[in-house]
Amino acid sequence: MSLAIVWFRRDLRLADNPALSLALRQHRRVLPLYIHAPHEESPWEPGAASRWWLHHSLAALAAELERRGAPLEVHAGDSLAVLQNLVRRCGADAVYWNRLYEPSALARDQQVEQALKAQGVAVCLGNASLLAEPGEITTGQGGPYRVFTPYWRNLRARLQPSPPAGVPARLDSCAPAGGLALAQLGLLPRRPWDAGFYSAWKPGEAGAGLALSAFCEDVVQVYAQQRDIPAIGGTSRLSAHLHFGEISPRQIHWALHELGCSRGARCHEAAEPFLRELGWREFAHHLLYHFPQTTQQDLNPDFGGFAWREPETELLTAWQRGRTGIPMIDAGMRELWETGWMHNRVRMLTASFLCKNLRIHWRHGARWFWDTLVDADLANNTLGWQWSAGTGADAAPYFRIFNPVTQGERFDPDGAYVKRWLPQLARLAFKSVHAPWKQPDLLARSGYAQPMVDLAASREAALQAYRNRTAPRLRGV
Ligand SMILES: Cc1cc2nc3c(=O)[nH]c(=O)nc-3n(C[C@H](O)[C@H](O)[C@H](O)COP(=O)(O)OP(=O)(O)OC[C@H]3O[C@@H](n4cnc5c(N)ncnc54)[C@H](O)[C@@H]3O)c2cc1C
Repeated sequence: MSLAIVWFRRDLRLADNPALSLALRQHRRVLPLYIHAPHEESPWEPGAASRWWLHHSLAALAAELERRGAPLEVHAGDSLAVLQNLVRRCGADAVYWNRLYEPSALARDQQVEQALKAQGVAVCLGNASLLAEPGEITTGQGGPYRVFTPYWRNLRARLQPSPPAGVPARLDSCAPAGGLALAQLGLLPRRPWDAGFYSAWKPGEAGAGLALSAFCEDVVQVYAQQRDIPAIGGTSRLSAHLHFGEISPRQIHWALHELGCSRGARCHEAAEPFLRELGWREFAHHLLYHFPQTTQQDLNPDFGGFAWREPETELLTAWQRGRTGIPMIDAGMRELWETGWMHNRVRMLTASFLCKNLRIHWRHGARWFWDTLVDADLANNTLGWQWSAGTGADAAPYFRIFNPVTQGERFDPDGAYVKRWLPQLARLAFKSVHAPWKQPDLLARSGYAQPMVDLAASREAALQAYRNRTAPRLRGV
């Protein structure tokens, strides 16, 4: 009776899981396995918010597997050693997994694959997380795209919705191999700063399905109009579910297609801007695969010599904790701290403020997001920060520096978002809640901070630093 190990990583679902489907097709029994090996993701070991999500996602997966007769084996250590040990102890013929695209995961997986094959164990790989894997979409010359629009045009033309595989009803497994209890991985924070996460999120495949249904039911039709308004739930909030592979972009594409079929052409068209955002996710993975150095280095070589400021702890901490005195920035940073998520528009504003008004290197911001976002994703985070800093190839021109006051007045016109996260500003009748310093008396009564920088002067200083960027770096980061 042949047995296959299915190595779950960031594909924490049973439906539309190519590794699981293939293993079930070719083997009588499967051993579902998770290996906790954060050191193998170095220097991007999962941050604190990600670990919170991972704990709950694994718990949800384990419950679903148990219900179907194949409990999840949880182990910790070097992946190869754990796999070799289990292959030997359980008599497995093959190991199945779905590919990852981060540089450290690619290197590790290649080593594991070679070692297992050398031992005579079959290895079977699938694509669980992308609409098109890196290398599938190339320019006319066969190279990687560096600009989103032609990349997306190419990918979009190839996309064909197809029905995803369902959840297997029953799984046959082998005797337990003596793994760990989930709690032994120590993923949950010791200090309870995660209280707000529980009401904001439902990690796991079922939670992902609910989020997708709610989005299809109420939001997708108005996505294009509402996606930039942070005060309302105008986006899908699927990012962490996608990152952990609790749902696949193929499943989402299929759901949108079915929605279009049942509700008509207008719904079909309304889904297009959303699909394009999934395209950004694809593009981010494409860039990370082809330019793996960009997690640390500017993609755009034209940016060399820019005079980043040595991060003064005080400035960086004020930004991290939402104490800059600029309401849109502080509201975003507090939303992030309390819920592990921040609206995309506000991510762009907070990133622009750090890199341009404070001139602190984007790497410091990317690290903070990495630790505090439940959806922290190396590909998307790198792209988002490089885009915001102006160092990416496909970035907004450097001189387009977001003004958090005018952005607030445009995308949060009644101040509902700012007031939700900064209640001290809600109590008083500011003419513009986005620029409370214009009414010093009210500002003093509110107890809210004075702005830590003058927006116009810091903008001008950033532009000047940009013009001078060919000069050698003043101080490294
Ligand atoms: C500085 C910065 C850092 C970011 N860091 C991350 C990160 O670590 N992880 C992450 O998933 N996203 C990141 N993003 C992208 C984006 O902000 C989030 O994906 C989005 O806010 C998630 O909310 P949603 O699921 O409701 O998005 P929706 O608007 O509903 O979009 C649907 C999905 O498309 C993808 N997507 C949307 N926008 C982008 C984008 N700009 N780039 C790549 N993929 C996108 C996400 O997977 C998202 O879940 C970052 C953006 C910026 C500006």
